[in-house]
Amino acid sequence: MSEVDLAGVPLVDQHCHGLVPLPEGDLIAWRACFTESRDEGTRRDHVTTSLCYRRLLGSLASFLGCEPDEEAVLEARSRLGRGLVGRLVADAGIQTLVLDRGFPIGEVLTDDLWRAGGADTASLLRLEPLMERLVPAHASWPELRAAMAAALRDVRGQGYVGLKSIAAYRTGLEIRPWDEEEVARTLAATRRRPDGPYRIEEKPLLDALLLVALGEASRQGLPVQFHVGYGDVDADLRLGNPLHLRWVLQEPRYRGAPIVLLHHCYPYTREGAYLAAVHERVHLDLSFGIPFLGLAELEACARAALAVAPSSKLLYSSDGVWVPELHWLAARDGRRVLGRVLGECVAWGELRLGEAEAAGVAILRDNASRLYGLGA
Ligand SMILES: [Zn+2]
Repeated sequence: MSEVDLAGVPLVDQHCHGLVPLPEGDLIAWRACFTESRDEGTRRDHVTTSLCYRRLLGSLASFLGCEPDEEAVLEARSRLGRGLVGRLVADAGIQTLVLDRGFPIGEVLTDDLWRAGGADTASLLRLEPLMERLVPAHASWPELRAAMAAALRDVRGQGYVGLKSIAAYRTGLEIRPWDEEEVARTLAATRRRPDGPYRIEEKPLLDALLLVALGEASRQGLPVQFHVGYGDVDADLRLGNPLHLRWVLQEPRYRGAPIVLLHHCYPYTREGAYLAAVHERVHLDLSFGIPFLGLAELEACARAALAVAPSSKLLYSSDGVWVPELHWLAARDGRRVLGRVLGECVAWGELRLGEAEAAGVAILRDNASRLYGLGA
């Protein structure tokens, strides 16, 4: 069986994050970039045996021309300094990065570094930090609701191509309407919390604010990304199943907002692909950086997604964050894995070669360009 060659296809990384300066020579900080575990012991003793990490180290060593061990790779990457970003981006053939500007926070390296490698950037507005800014300033629910709507009245005018929510990390994806009094009560409870407070963990309040955002997105035809499934220990995977979004997906008021389910919905990939197959406005993100998986599992996810959902509903991403290696590795792996899976479809006689190539280009670039209006 032959693979479909996608090596030369420029791609849109439709969900990823910015870079931070890594402490020079800090092996543990470096390893921490390749796991969602916060456990010190995992970072110290176990990350290095994951397939994802072994693959990264080997690929990086051959790219940098050094030995495939951590010390040599770290030394070679720090010799390049910030020039490393441009080198990796150019090698990865990234045309546009769609960056979630709400994470990481603190010192984030500037977009010039991406541009040095020939990539454009576009921005996503992360909803929860916006909520966290608005809650302290508004004591009553009607005021807060109006402020949230006002902040989102013209999202594209503020330079964003879409919204993103991490509700799955907080109170889960079973988002629904609540009684106004209940929302007001949880707003008051949130504002009373002493702990510098406003990480919103009260479900009625978070849901109500999200529905305001969905209403605005629907009016503006603006895509909304949802974190789904795999994440760090903050994410309760039981609440991160995309099937919980049923009410939102059925509600006619939000029909104007395309929904993007992130991270392959891992491990709920089949559920996510099913939703993309049956709901016109649902799209499934095929993220090849995070979750940190071996190639066999990335291939299984891509195969399931492609077998269930139309290829026009699938979108490539890396979910790269902190260091540019993830954005780079995902681009290499994404092209390889999709090439293999599409090659299978040709071998089965399901697609002709030209159709398989076109599907690859659509998943890697064109579906996202169209969805976010990139270059328009
Ligand atoms: Zn992300």
